[in-house]
Amino acid sequence: MGKILKFSGNNIDRLEVQRRDENWISDKLSDPDSKVIVYNKSKVLVKKIFSNITLKFIPLGDIKSKGIEPKLILVGDLSGEIYLATDLNDFADEKVNTILSDGDEFIDCRTAGDELSLSQGGIISQSKSQLEWNRKNGFCGICGGKTNGQRGGQSRKCLTCETEMFPRTDPVMITVVSDGDYCLLGQSKGRLSKLNIYSCLAGFVDQGESIEEAVSREIMEESGIKVKNVNYYASQPWPFPWSLMIGCHAEAETNEINYDEHEMHSVKWFHRDEVLDALKESNDDLSVPGSIAIAHHLIKAWATKEV
Ligand SMILES: [Zn+2]
Repeated sequence: MGKILKFSGNNIDRLEVQRRDENWISDKLSDPDSKVIVYNKSKVLVKKIFSNITLKFIPLGDIKSKGIEPKLILVGDLSGEIYLATDLNDFADEKVNTILSDGDEFIDCRTAGDELSLSQGGIISQSKSQLEWNRKNGFCGICGGKTNGQRGGQSRKCLTCETEMFPRTDPVMITVVSDGDYCLLGQSKGRLSKLNIYSCLAGFVDQGESIEEAVSREIMEESGIKVKNVNYYASQPWPFPWSLMIGCHAEAETNEINYDEHEMHSVKWFHRDEVLDALKESNDDLSVPGSIAIAHHLIKAWATKEV
């Protein structure tokens, strides 16, 4: 097993075999004892005790007793208990609030993934992505007919032309490019929450492209730098809405920056010492992403000469 980053480390058994039995699934989707992971408008329900948060699971019977009939997916089995998930975005907030107890709160999933245990963050990446995929695929891309969830939400089938569709995962390459003691970091447009924050260059892998080809193309497009020796480092599920970040290191073959001003606000070379200070949050001129993001781990591995 390689590096386990936030949003991976999910210990749930996804019940691949049991999912083939639609009668078994419909039993679990109506069992009042099944535990439900609850979302509201893509925020996840947690229990907050002082500053400590854990995912809040509500028995299905308790949700239904408040007059709410949720649309459910089957997440899987954890320690002999069945877990389902729902997003209550079709219900008015006043109605949703009736299922909450003291300390229960809906929070954004990025914060939740950062603060929850690794395994609970992993449950979010599985359930949030799958709920969103089901919600956005209610109609067939071939004939426009209505689709129906199958296998507890792991596939959908068109009721008209019977086309089957399966949840997507979008691969995104993210790379630290180095040239000796310097590394290449950038600021993409529209992400300027802090003016001095720089991160790895990243982009979606195109169709018909290997990871190495995607790295070479994206780095050239975003910075004008030609790269060689692309090496895989680690990956991370990123449930916004369903990406898989593929983290790499690469070496620069050229060093003159010529970045795409349409996509990038700034791209620069930074010395290892500046980056080490930024990782210690003691550099006023440079900040790097926090440890929730694979970018942090890629930058740190290069700066500390782990790779
Ligand atoms: Zn169809």
